[in-house]
Amino acid sequence: MSNLQNFDLLSVGITVAAIGILGFAIFFDNRKSVTNKTFLGFSLITILYGVFNYINYQTASPELILWFLRLTIFWAVWHAFSFFQLFYVFPEEKINFPPYYKYFILPLTALASILTLTPWVFSRIEQVVMGGVSNPVRGPVIIVFGATVVLLAGSGIFFLIKKTWQAEGKLRSQLRLILLGATSTFSLIIVFNFILPVIFNQLRFIPLAPVFFFPLIIATAYAIFRHGLLNMKVVTVDILTFLLVVSILFEVLISSSTAEIFFRTIIFILLLTFGILLSKSIRREIKQREALQILTEELEVANEELRKLDQAKSEFISIASHQLRSPLTVIRGYIAMFSEGTFGAITEQARDALGRVSFSAEQLIKLVASLLNLSRIESGKIKYDFTKGDFVKLVKGIVEEFIPYARDKGVELHMEDYADGSIPLLFDSDKIREVVVNLIDNAIKYSPKGKISVSLSKNASILLLVKDSGIGIAKEDIRKLFAKFSRSTDAQKVDPNGMGIGLYFVKRVVEDHGGKVWADSEGVGNGSTFTVELPIKS
Ligand code: ADP
Repeated sequence: MSNLQNFDLLSVGITVAAIGILGFAIFFDNRKSVTNKTFLGFSLITILYGVFNYINYQTASPELILWFLRLTIFWAVWHAFSFFQLFYVFPEEKINFPPYYKYFILPLTALASILTLTPWVFSRIEQVVMGGVSNPVRGPVIIVFGATVVLLAGSGIFFLIKKTWQAEGKLRSQLRLILLGATSTFSLIIVFNFILPVIFNQLRFIPLAPVFFFPLIIATAYAIFRHGLLNMKVVTVDILTFLLVVSILFEVLISSSTAEIFFRTIIFILLLTFGILLSKSIRREIKQREALQILTEELEVANEELRKLDQAKSEFISIASHQLRSPLTVIRGYIAMFSEGTFGAITEQARDALGRVSFSAEQLIKLVASLLNLSRIESGKIKYDFTKGDFVKLVKGIVEEFIPYARDKGVELHMEDYADGSIPLLFDSDKIREVVVNLIDNAIKYSPKGKISVSLSKNASILLLVKDSGIGIAKEDIRKLFAKFSRSTDAQKVDPNGMGIGLYFVKRVVEDHGGKVWADSEGVGNGSTFTVELPIKS
């Protein structure tokens, strides 16, 4: 093999490998896009065309040369066709082909390509030129071949120019780049495949067709990539694969024995396959990551909307409860006045009825208070007024207030004596009062009978324990109790009117005082203990 031929083989080999890698890289980048599919077709046909174009002068047999030449122009027809299609579809993902594509272009291409295999186009080889291109004897039908190729290539160029003309922005610069690539390719072809052979009878460069097509292919690949995802990781892998494949190809070329050629060719094919697969898998990973990112963004939007909705709901609750509070206070006031006989003596029956009205009004007031607390927490508007006070006195007072209510319910409520007498504390007494009220109220509510004991202790911190012998809490419910609107199924049976806001408020207030609150229970039916731990601040 002469050095010149070695050079030809190397340059054809390198460009063929590069075209193959680019073709598959673009294809795997977006397998559904008709542009990407057509590009793969165009790349593969360029390779086939290039390979037959190259090997036709590697043999001395006129028969083989004739067939290689026929196959060269057979693929040349399809090459022109895929060129036309590429620029007909570029850069769309989906396209409806017009009827003339199905009923004229495709049949014409098929017919012209089949005719190239007949003696009417190339009839025989008269003289074999070794190491050069043998000139075949042309038949009359060569005109069909010529006309079809000119028509297809011309239409492709027409679409390319038209699209470049009409395009705007990024697409326009991409199309311009392709146009530049196409111009380079056609200039090379005109110079090396037409001017040099026809005018100067210099046929040596004809076998280098894939090299001439490279500018067009690389510009188009770049434009398609830019249209989709061009990622540095993928490009790096592609370049590395390319370099590896080229170096192995070089090894093949300098092989000295058939065994070596065989072995290295296998490595070449393996490397090419793995390179393409690797590049494909990285692309898939990038796509997944992109999909994930889109999902995250969508989720963020949905979250934001939920937040707004939540805020609207809080505002609604706040407005509604404020509006409810004043009339309720008025109702409570008048009930008290009626019961006290301010408007005249009332019968026992009426007093009884008033008692029930009063009870319902109290329930409503509690509910409104809970809603107000909730809306304060939600809007971040809980205001604290920290003052010094005696914690023992506060708790004792509340227990005493609740004793008659507990007795009415058949529950015994009592407070264990606190030995040290008082616990001075810096706290918001109204809010902490609500905390203790909530816990004792719950203990009575959720204890159909039995005992409730309230106790205080002070060591490193202050502990308030509210222990009841009521319905208890299932293990799986304990963690959830302090969340908003959280209620156990048993609690719903005992008190269907609860809202599940009380403990949410308790937790918030205790934590805002730097403390902790938690619940313990031996399980359903075995009572519960609620503990509040507050730091000593006085
Ligand atoms: P509500 O009492 O309106 O349901 P809370 O926030 O005060 O709302 O209580 C939340 C839930 O915690 C109750 O529904 C109940 O399941 C449980 N719970 C609270 N206190 C007790 C208790 N002393 N014994 C058993 N369960 C309780």
